[in-house]
Amino acid sequence: MEQTQLLQRRIQERRAKEDPPGDVRLVPCDACGSMQLLSVLEKASSRGEVYQVSRCRDCSLVQVNPQPDLARVEPYYADEYFERRTDRGYANYYSENIKQEIRRVYNLNLNDLDFFDYERQLFGESWLVESLSGDPKLGRKHTPVALDVGCAAGYFVEYLRDRNWEARGVELSRKAAHFGLFELELDIIVGDFLNCNRLEAESYDLITLWASIEHMHSPRRVLEQAHHLLKPGGRMLLSTCRYGWLARMRGARWRYMNVPEHLYFFSLAGLKGLARQVGLQTVCSVTYGSGMTTRPDAGPLYRVAKRLADPLVKLTNQGDMMALHLIKA
Ligand SMILES: [Zn+2]
Repeated sequence: MEQTQLLQRRIQERRAKEDPPGDVRLVPCDACGSMQLLSVLEKASSRGEVYQVSRCRDCSLVQVNPQPDLARVEPYYADEYFERRTDRGYANYYSENIKQEIRRVYNLNLNDLDFFDYERQLFGESWLVESLSGDPKLGRKHTPVALDVGCAAGYFVEYLRDRNWEARGVELSRKAAHFGLFELELDIIVGDFLNCNRLEAESYDLITLWASIEHMHSPRRVLEQAHHLLKPGGRMLLSTCRYGWLARMRGARWRYMNVPEHLYFFSLAGLKGLARQVGLQTVCSVTYGSGMTTRPDAGPLYRVAKRLADPLVKLTNQGDMMALHLIKA
């Protein structure tokens, strides 16, 4: 009986390999709607499917196009996605050391984006309301509210909760979301940010998207939805890989050219422009990362080169990662 089941599973697996689910088709550029696309490079995925990376002739956005639909990319986010996620020597996304590393990067990004000044302002106001009114409930009403989109296991939700925010997350991957929900006891919605009816308009002080917008099928709609959910004057922080000269130079070998998990590769100006079109103004931005990843087995020469290159690209604004602080005007 067991053998028969095993055999059936093997047949199903082979069928899935020969005939992957979903579809791949040419779609209009998400940023500007143009169909004028120029092929930049071809790259094979981890499952051996070859994808075309194209640049929009009208707005220059680099994107996987023809584009796989949600069903086609889903196998790439199978349960093991978060267990083999990085090339940094961490075997498991859920381990304590990767969590600490992620928190360290949050701190760096938040500091660079002047987030802590903004946070002080927010808490200052709520403290003032509380002490002037003498009513702690009134003060509590002003506890800042945040939403982390594509929150994975909810490490940023936890980070904000530790800083006295009312924070929740939304995550498509059930396994990652369940870790945050049940292990960390966080408020996480399992589902699609764009089709979630549990999110109220104009109710968030802060919406964050850490390295998740490049995975989404419509960054424009994601930014529009974020704008819709933010309170007037609300802030948005997002980070994503940055398509600049480092990316162009490395081509298909660029460290973030992971297709089809990454569907969009924005330039700094391109992302600021798209945000502006949906009503989000840039407060400040930063680029970082020389393209040299942290390798636990790296030799001394590599370490020295990295130690020099990382600050240099940041100083000259040429990093291959970027983070933006936006405001709903
Ligand atoms: Zn375009």
